[in-house]
Amino acid sequence: MEHRIKNLDARFGAQNYHPLPVVLNKGSGVWLWDTDGKKYLDMMSAYSAVSHGHCHPELVEAMHEQAQTLAMCSRAFFSDKMPLLLERLCSLLDYDKALLMNTGAEAIETAIKAARRWGYSKKGIPDNQAEIIVFDNNFHGRTTGIISFSSDDEYRHQFGPYLPGFHIATYGDIESVQKRINKNTCAVLVEPIQGEAGIVIPPKGWLKKLEQLCKAENVLLICDEIQSGLGRTGTWLASEHEDVKPDAVTLGKALGGGLYPVSALVGRADVLDVFNPGSHGSTFGGNPLACAIAHKAIDIMERDNYLQNSASLGAYFLEQLKILSAPSIQSVRGRGLWIGVDLDPSQKTGREICESLMKKGILSKETHHTVVRFAPPLMITKSEVDYALEIIKEVFVA
Ligand SMILES: *Cc1c(COP(=O)(O)O)cnc(C)c1O
Repeated sequence: MEHRIKNLDARFGAQNYHPLPVVLNKGSGVWLWDTDGKKYLDMMSAYSAVSHGHCHPELVEAMHEQAQTLAMCSRAFFSDKMPLLLERLCSLLDYDKALLMNTGAEAIETAIKAARRWGYSKKGIPDNQAEIIVFDNNFHGRTTGIISFSSDDEYRHQFGPYLPGFHIATYGDIESVQKRINKNTCAVLVEPIQGEAGIVIPPKGWLKKLEQLCKAENVLLICDEIQSGLGRTGTWLASEHEDVKPDAVTLGKALGGGLYPVSALVGRADVLDVFNPGSHGSTFGGNPLACAIAHKAIDIMERDNYLQNSASLGAYFLEQLKILSAPSIQSVRGRGLWIGVDLDPSQKTGREICESLMKKGILSKETHHTVVRFAPPLMITKSEVDYALEIIKEVFVA
């Protein structure tokens, strides 16, 4: 079975991923099973998309119910579900308006369009001159527009020509942003914590300074909270840790409850109001099925205290990893249930560690070769964290 699946993938699939050699066919809560019936603890949560755990029964039920009532009607008509989700998102995060899309990359593209149009219509930037400041080692998705401002050659190689209008500043360095701001700058787009770069937390106070700088220069601050948002760091938004209120935020991943892609741009009215009929859209964006799932996903997070669980178990997990004192670990950092372990590159690669973890029943994935991430579903229990820690100890201390 496993062999056959891998061969089919190799024969018929474009090889744009390099998965660990495990074939999964079942998931429930924090657990995954492979085709041999072997059980694994998911420490990856599909990059935060599975914050509710796998196949959450109430979400599956909500999905099922909506699927047999009205699944899809396009934005050519109103549905009775979409405005309810918009209101829920806005009151939850204290914003004025929201625009729904499907994937995270689409939410980012929406943010870029909003920022540029805001620049022309509100700030008075001359036509086609708007500039957006982004950061080195950013990850915002895979469209040709977005990879145009990546600093990672792996994401860009032979995909040009690239979209102009972006400037890359140094993450965590306020002067580097200051230098790149001019009268044509419409926005700064930033991850409050860089996920794909390896759970990189900027220096304390930096995001606040960025907010103040943006305000002083009449530049929008847009935070990409697609991975960091919705409880991953112990708060609804990671920007809350720095007491920062972005002009708009992008959401995705966990918003779909691990079942369905749902993303959004949520923000102030003057940012979202730049769109008029015909200016932007998506066939599936904001469909009733997506909205029913996302609404339920938020309700469950709130009712079952996912944020508190992420904060307290995340702190415990981090503390336990810090006292591990394994020679292959260089440093450990994280916020909430989002932890990056820096490996000593002279010892073991992230891939090797992830393969060892896999053999012992923990699934995770390295990022940038030398960082192993631990990001379990937010409903994980303390005993499940302890179970993981035992295995992690065996792998790292061995
Ligand atoms: C995953 C991710 C995206 C892109 O989301 P997709 O759904 O994969 O398009 C954008 N920004 C951040 C911070 C992400 O982690």
